Amino acid sequence: MVVINIRCPKCSKNRMLSIDEEQIKFKASGLCLLNIDENFTCEHSYVIFIDQHYNIRDYYDFDYNIELSEIISMEKSAEIIKDSDKK
Ligand SMILES: [Zn+2]
Repeated sequence: MVVINIRCPKCSKNRMLSIDEEQIKFKASGLCLLNIDENFTCEHSYVIFIDQHYNIRDYYDFDYNIELSEIISMEKSAEIIKDSDKK
């Protein structure tokens, strides 16, 4: 399990996010997209990019023009987060 400190790009609220590294699928670029649901850190929802060292590379909110291939992997990541919350 890896814990990363995420921060909302809009209001700067922080929260620790636990990730099961065995469930993360990195793309060929070496990055993984994670969907942060609203009410996790705050009222905003946004997307984070993490690299294979679990460093946060970038944040995007949903107004950003994300390519279709990236949206698909983002949705998979959202499922991963929900699954790990049940355990
Ligand atoms: Zn926020």
